[in-house]
Amino acid sequence: MATLEIRDLHVTVEADNATKEILKGVDLTVKQGETHAIMGPNGSGKSTLAYSIAGHPKYTITQGTVTLDGEDVLEMEVDERARAGMFLAMQYPVEVPGVSVSNFLRTSATAIRGEAPKLRTWVKEVKESMAALQMDPSFAERNVNEGFSGGEKKRHEILQMELLKPKIAILDETDSGLDVDALRVVSEGVNRVRDTGEVGTLLITHYTRILRYIKPDFVHVFANGRIAESGGAELADKLESEGYEAYVKGGASE
Ligand code: ADP
Ligand code: MG
Ligand code: MG
Repeated sequence: MATLEIRDLHVTVEADNATKEILKGVDLTVKQGETHAIMGPNGSGKSTLAYSIAGHPKYTITQGTVTLDGEDVLEMEVDERARAGMFLAMQYPVEVPGVSVSNFLRTSATAIRGEAPKLRTWVKEVKESMAALQMDPSFAERNVNEGFSGGEKKRHEILQMELLKPKIAILDETDSGLDVDALRVVSEGVNRVRDTGEVGTLLITHYTRILRYIKPDFVHVFANGRIAESGGAELADKLESEGYEAYVKGGASE
């Protein structure tokens, strides 16, 4: 079973010619098969955590470790992280002009698996997954995220997750901007992957509503750059009724 271990992670960014510490000692362990929800107010550093684990160059790790089965993730290039089984669905997926969804998925799968997937089974896999996510087949020929609606971008992220079969998936606000129907379809997609027991999921969200569809094993409250409290699914209910106020007192979240 793959295990992602984050220990005492401190991260800074450069903004306005100043160095700002965003993550202030994050500790978290995610095992394959588990679902963790990270919930917190805007600006608390949730996306920074996702990007830091994924290897975004904008974020400087100043202290702490991130390992996958004991291997130092922070030493890996971004593509090595993907090959090791890490996956990030971004809060704001980027456009890739001139690259079709179909090409993008096959190139990614080839890079991650180390060989091109067999065409017959691959085409079937893609078709089935797109159908399950209620994506029109014509979508495969469109350029990645170019002109996609918010809902289409999120479906495409989950399509990647389903096809690339990561060991650890970080989903950054996959629920934001989705209407109820899209939220259900996207959540069912996440649950399909999760039900294989092969993926550890880190579900980052601001709102509790996605947790009605995707039941977390653990809920962590994120505030001021660290995990302020951890618990089970019941912690989300408490947040739903009480909000984040109790966690951000004594310092603004930004
Ligand atoms: P969240 O995802 O919880 O809303 P973020 O991680 O996006 O929070 O942001 C946390 C803080 O770090 C914010 O104050 C934000 O302005 C700052 N920050 C994040 N990324 C950058 C960046 N690339 N450049 C400058 N500031 C950043
Ligand atoms: Mg935000
Ligand atoms: Mg964010």
